[in-house]
Amino acid sequence: MQLAKNDILARLVETDPARLEELWLAADSLRRQYLGDAIHLRGLVEISNICVRSCAYCGLRTGRSDLKRYRMTLPEILEAARRIASHSFGTIVLQSGEDQGITQSWLAQVIARIKTETGLAITLSLGERSHSDLEGWRIAGADRYLLRFETSDRTLFGCIHPPRPGQTSDRFKTLEWLGQMGYEVGTGIMVGIPGQTYTSLADDIGLFRDLDVDMVGIGPFLPHPATPLGSAHHPSGPDQVPNSETMTLKVLALTRLNCPTINIPSTTALATISDVSREHGLKAGANVIMPNFTPRQYRLLYDIYPSKTDVDENDELFPDVIKARIHSMGRTVGQGPGRRPRHRS
Ligand code: SAH
Repeated sequence: MQLAKNDILARLVETDPARLEELWLAADSLRRQYLGDAIHLRGLVEISNICVRSCAYCGLRTGRSDLKRYRMTLPEILEAARRIASHSFGTIVLQSGEDQGITQSWLAQVIARIKTETGLAITLSLGERSHSDLEGWRIAGADRYLLRFETSDRTLFGCIHPPRPGQTSDRFKTLEWLGQMGYEVGTGIMVGIPGQTYTSLADDIGLFRDLDVDMVGIGPFLPHPATPLGSAHHPSGPDQVPNSETMTLKVLALTRLNCPTINIPSTTALATISDVSREHGLKAGANVIMPNFTPRQYRLLYDIYPSKTDVDENDELFPDVIKARIHSMGRTVGQGPGRRPRHRS
């Protein structure tokens, strides 16, 4: 079913609790129909907080001199990969700031070692990299790449994500390359960016389908005080999308209705809103969780937004806690890499 833009818009502004309940149920039943009850677990490792960009929303932005920077070593990354595999997860996600010190050859070696030693599916989320870097990593064995377009409003994107001097930033072009290279492609947005309108949000949801991506991550915008958007006054006009749990769930559920077979995580950003938000996401169309396996000494330094660190997730037992929660919801823990169905061989 393809939702018309007007239909999407009407549901984005819906406030009636009964109608919203219908929306969550419709998304949940479509998820069950196409993907079953399995929730896939991906182990997230934040391998570097070094970044050349100055995004107005992100706490890793360059020029933030109060933040100690780190890049994990090969042995540290392999150790995290082994822990992820030991919990029977099928996928590792390597995420970082846009760190040019992550060279093609070094990361190719990391990818090859993870593959031979653990067999995990590998997802990369390293920002905008060159065609040749992306191609090299695909050849080395990377399976997926996540690059959110953040908002389809080009003017807003230009304001919050300034291009690097002398370069243009075209995330849509990069997403196209990734598909051509045979990656499973993930994208996504933040909900409630200052200046984000309902119309542009409806366009974002339509684009997920038009781009035919395999994964979509949706999280609320969380203001970070050390960034321009975190310290500015949050606009509150009638067109401004709020960065609330309910609004995030609406976008998630509508994305599921529009793209029945894709993977949709219940994101960590959503989980920071309340103790039950992650579960609400899983009941409104999501089928993936990405528990954090970044080593303890780096966790607080990967400071993209405040209170990102769920204390539980530093605990060795956290994967078991997550699995118990999945079972208590009547869902099952996904086995294997958890590809989007059309990619299964
Ligand atoms: N450097 C990589 C990874 C960035 S972190 C990249 O640019 O793709 C992954 C995601 O975190 C970003 O795509 C963004 O959507 C989200 N994020 C960053 N800052 C945030 C904030 N203040 N609030 C909510 N989400 C944020």
